[in-house]
Amino acid sequence: MPKAKETVLEIDLGALTHNFNYLKSKLKPTTKFLAVVKAFAYGSDSIEIAKHLEHLNVDYFAVAYTKEGVVLRDAGIKTPILVLHPQPVNFNTIIERCLEPSLYNAKVLNAFIKIAEEQSQANYPVHIKFNTGLNRLGFWENDVDYVVSKLKTTKSIKVKSIFSHLAASEDKDEIEFTNKQIEFFKLISKAFENHIGSKPWLHLCNTSGVLNYSEAHFDMVRCGIGLYGFGNSAKENENLFPVASLKSVISQIHKIEKGETVGYNRAYKAKGFEKTATIPIGHADGISRIYGNENGYVKINGCKAPIIGNVCMDMIMVNISDINCKEGDEVILFDAANKASDLAESANTISYEIITSISQRVKRSIIK
Ligand SMILES: *Cc1c(COP(=O)(O)O)cnc(C)c1O
Repeated sequence: MPKAKETVLEIDLGALTHNFNYLKSKLKPTTKFLAVVKAFAYGSDSIEIAKHLEHLNVDYFAVAYTKEGVVLRDAGIKTPILVLHPQPVNFNTIIERCLEPSLYNAKVLNAFIKIAEEQSQANYPVHIKFNTGLNRLGFWENDVDYVVSKLKTTKSIKVKSIFSHLAASEDKDEIEFTNKQIEFFKLISKAFENHIGSKPWLHLCNTSGVLNYSEAHFDMVRCGIGLYGFGNSAKENENLFPVASLKSVISQIHKIEKGETVGYNRAYKAKGFEKTATIPIGHADGISRIYGNENGYVKINGCKAPIIGNVCMDMIMVNISDINCKEGDEVILFDAANKASDLAESANTISYEIITSISQRVKRSIIK
């Protein structure tokens, strides 16, 4: 790999292939695979990731918002796309761009039926979301009769799947609760099937659900974080390869005396003669201020350099007093060896947050 000459997020499609195959190896051959590519494919590059997964014959995509699905359709993605969290204002666009809505309450169900009828749609594919304990989005179990009665009034839509979402699939202390969610989901889908007389697909598991609850894969699973290289334990992380590496470069080195300060608000004070490096990446690039004041660190020539003082909008300063390095040297924020999950931990957050925070200002570089 050539050394970074500026701030860059490298996206390793080989790692993506590996993770996809690893997760698929946990499924029955007939279980379908939905790849979650919301939030720029977890902060990477949704178009490149979706194209690659389409090439690997993924069955489905999901995005959070309609706009994200439109971007994929504009890029020529043909695979079905589930929109997990649409609003009625998006429903014309959803139909126009062949996206498939999650319908999660009476208001959106009725709004979608109305628009599908206005557009003379027949059997337009929709997905009904049920709440089984996350208490975030979804119909409640006692809404089954209502949903079914609405569906019987129209030929404009057809339920392609029924789904729910686990609240704590990664947490071994919550096995009992998760098992209850699974049982609840079975009861709801059974009631639904009995009333409607057809068998929509069922899906419940996210990445941790796939890894921890093999009995609950149903007809399809929805994987996000695992595709990007993070599991739910250190052990699982060994089987997955991080897709994104965030790299930068040393712009300038300063030598400062004891008592001199670094950065805004003079937040760091040198304890003796020290060396600092200035790196062109800041909170506008996704390195939150939480990483400042020696919570977070970067790696330079294999050594840990703590981030000192406050994170600026476009820069961080790091302590390189004990590191042999020069201006122009490569800086690693995270990569396959220095995991984003470890850096995230230094700021009491999780891999999901740090990788999805890398802003669109950072150049993406695709490694085939
Ligand atoms: C984001 C999301 C997923 C993916 O979860 P991971 O833990 O990243 O695998 C699956 N289902 C729903 C409803 C989601 O919102």
